[in-house]
Amino acid sequence: MKKFVYLFNEGNSGMKDLLGGKGANLAEMTKIGLPVPYGFTISTEACNAYYEAEKAISPEVHDQILQALTALEEKTGKRLGDPNNPLLVSVRSGAVFSMPGMMDTILNLGMNDQTVEGMARLTNNPRFAYDSYRRFIQMFADVVLEVDIFFFEQLLEEYREQKGYNSDPELTAEDWQEVIQGYKNIVRKRTKKEFPQDPKEQLFLSINSVFDSWNNQRAIVYRRLHKIPQHLGTAVNIQTMVFGNMGDDSGTGVAFTRNPSTGEPLLYGEYLINAQGEDVVAGIRTPLPIHTLQREMPEIYKQFSETCQRLEHHYLDMQDIEFTVERGKLFILQTRTGKRTAQAAIRIAVDMVEEGLIDKKTAILRIDPDQLNQLLHRRIDDTIERKQLTKGLPASPGAATGQVVFDADEAEALGNEGKKVILVRPETTPDDIHGIVASQGVVTSRGGMTSHAAVVARGMGKPCICGCEEVKIDLNALQFSIGETVINQGDTITIDGSTGEIMYGEIPMVDPQLSDEFQLLLKWADEERKLGVRANADNPIDAQKAFEFGAGGIGLCRTEHMFMDSKRIPIVQRMILAENDAERSEALAQLLPMQQSDFEGIFEAMQGLPVTIRLLDPPLHEFLPNKDELLVEVTKLQITDPTSRQLLEKEKLLKKVRQLEEFNPMLGLRGCRLGIIYPEIYEMQAKAIFFAIAKLDKKGIDVNPEIMIPLVGHVNELKEMRELVINASLQVQEITGINFNYLIGTMIEIPRAALTADEIAKEADFFSFGTNDLTQTTFGFSRDDAEGKFLQTYIEKKVLPDNPFAVLDREGVGKLVETGVNLGRQTKPNLKTGICGEHGGEKQSIKFCYNAGLDYVSCSPYRVPLARLAAAQATILKEQV
Ligand code: ADP
Ligand code: MG
Ligand code: MG
Repeated sequence: MKKFVYLFNEGNSGMKDLLGGKGANLAEMTKIGLPVPYGFTISTEACNAYYEAEKAISPEVHDQILQALTALEEKTGKRLGDPNNPLLVSVRSGAVFSMPGMMDTILNLGMNDQTVEGMARLTNNPRFAYDSYRRFIQMFADVVLEVDIFFFEQLLEEYREQKGYNSDPELTAEDWQEVIQGYKNIVRKRTKKEFPQDPKEQLFLSINSVFDSWNNQRAIVYRRLHKIPQHLGTAVNIQTMVFGNMGDDSGTGVAFTRNPSTGEPLLYGEYLINAQGEDVVAGIRTPLPIHTLQREMPEIYKQFSETCQRLEHHYLDMQDIEFTVERGKLFILQTRTGKRTAQAAIRIAVDMVEEGLIDKKTAILRIDPDQLNQLLHRRIDDTIERKQLTKGLPASPGAATGQVVFDADEAEALGNEGKKVILVRPETTPDDIHGIVASQGVVTSRGGMTSHAAVVARGMGKPCICGCEEVKIDLNALQFSIGETVINQGDTITIDGSTGEIMYGEIPMVDPQLSDEFQLLLKWADEERKLGVRANADNPIDAQKAFEFGAGGIGLCRTEHMFMDSKRIPIVQRMILAENDAERSEALAQLLPMQQSDFEGIFEAMQGLPVTIRLLDPPLHEFLPNKDELLVEVTKLQITDPTSRQLLEKEKLLKKVRQLEEFNPMLGLRGCRLGIIYPEIYEMQAKAIFFAIAKLDKKGIDVNPEIMIPLVGHVNELKEMRELVINASLQVQEITGINFNYLIGTMIEIPRAALTADEIAKEADFFSFGTNDLTQTTFGFSRDDAEGKFLQTYIEKKVLPDNPFAVLDREGVGKLVETGVNLGRQTKPNLKTGICGEHGGEKQSIKFCYNAGLDYVSCSPYRVPLARLAAAQATILKEQV
């Protein structure tokens, strides 16, 4: 007979697939002797069987549950439903991957009109017993019976008002009894049934409901967001209750073994005295920081911090731990690998290597390159004086500016329009996830550092400020106030999640700096990796940044960006509009020194590292005014000033724009085709490069240039352009007397080039795969049209697994890359190869490039650290198989 149910002493942490993360860790903690309330776990296989049987628990599973329950009753000496000594349990969902707050837990199950009396007698604390019962009714009604929680809250609020109470602790046992009557009436009215009194019925209804919750909307959204497969199923944990709400010697809390925001190796967490379960995370009362527990319950604190140490050494990673104190006794209710910010992840990994807990390779593999993005982002400029409105808890670092919105749907709508918004809420719930996704950052007026908003924002790398108690939100008026100041929906604020400050308006931000730990980790990564990392940079400032971030060179310098400069564009236009060679040469002669100075700056910044310069690539009309606008101007002038010179000029311009207009500019006169039709443009660019080298040579600065011809499809194109560049170098050599050392290579971005790479390699010293255009030409997609019109649907319908412009399509485009590398190296075994384009900064694509045998990847300067780490991971992972 197949085993579907496991007692806590029958499992271990290796059984996550079967027991879910929570269940496997509860078993593991039981095994190593920690004080875990006893219980059992119903496996994920039982959940899948439930769905296969069209939502029914089979007799087999049913029996196994009852057997486990008997074992639990024997162990605890209590019985479910026994009025004299009732067993109460929690029913907790637990998927393979932790999904915080995604599925609902039921506490105090087993309470009914009889057992509540038993509890009252046994504990000599009727108030506690009735308080627990009313919590159970509400939770059970909400999760299992699907009665809106609002009715219960409303009733309680009215009751408090009527009695003149300000808060729940003022309610007496008798009060709670009355509330319970009211709660039961709500259940009767809304479900047309009595609240179930049979504890076994309660248990099985709850188990069904946990299974059902696997497919509730917010769980599905969470899984989609975090790429968790939908078929895994959830386990259910049935665990003996312990009570943090038995008085002032009881309490409940959550703690991380290290600071999840900064990584500091100090216990970090919060707790509430005389509270149960979710009170800490729900943000109803603002909890106390964990270190005050040292003062209030020194013995418990000592025991707890030792347990934390022990768990960390056991799991060799930072842990996120739930605990409850029942009348002076500590219980551990959950442990899991703690979510953390990128900053903390790095600090913890590096510290753990230095503490001898893990090795460097493990440290490198622990950091998700995607997460580094948040560290490489901008933050608020410290030198600017801040007009602080108020300050809350710094719950997730980073800074953001945006318009205030108060509602998740509104945030999503505005976010989709491309607006930057900050979501401001009293607190957030899992139903707000889509709004958080669409926001730049989150502010809540209630809740602590472990509240829902804080945990979710940290996971997404978004700034978040919690517990901002000064912020008084009026959801009806769509505004919040801080003292006298009123902020309306749509007003712009800036938040700093690292300090907790909220400021009015937009505040300038500065570039990020790499922490010491980050630098050290990257040094370790550099020691491991075999793949080079370069940056794409078009100007000296970006080149400088690339150098600082550890780029091993420039993989792509796009010269057209130098043409776009507002001072240069008129000269570029004159060059394009030239009626004859003389006019054109004159314009080009003006452009040459400008290009030269750009190159000098870039070469200088890179201090002798290789710099790949691509000659002009886009179609010429990109440098001319928009045709439609021009047409309007001409038409206006024809009416208002038909004899003016201006009209003549505009007409001439319009004629040229029309001449250059193409049906499909992406596949038109651009790249090396331009170089063949207008050789003087490429010649000017080549000369500018050589003059720049000559100038730096005089200054004693080393330069390592690689001149790159774009959009080659046939070897003859490259051959002709190669001659042109060599010619230019000889001409400059004549003038300057310098013998230039340089490479000439090509982009491989047309399938034909990849397929004939053996031929092309005869004329090339290097290949750089332009995977953006290669993706466009391989799929036959134009990127802007695809992303704007159909790619989103393609991904939703799973026609494609990812956006191929973000994650390299390994099967198709990747095959062309591999073919290109292999054929090229048949001709030239040492042919240098790399990729440029966004893929060079994406972890999966980087892994692919390493495995395909490329020498380097090139990406935006801000992604260089991420790429260095991803390249090291690719190397380590390859060694491990
Ligand atoms: P989540 O996955 O949403 O964190 P949990 O199953 O961990 O849900 O439970 C929610 C809260 O209830 C937590 O604070 C947890 O510590 C508490 N809790 C769960 N089971 C018990 C129990 N047997 N006794 C006391 N508190 C419990
Ligand atoms: Mg939990
Ligand atoms: Mg291209």
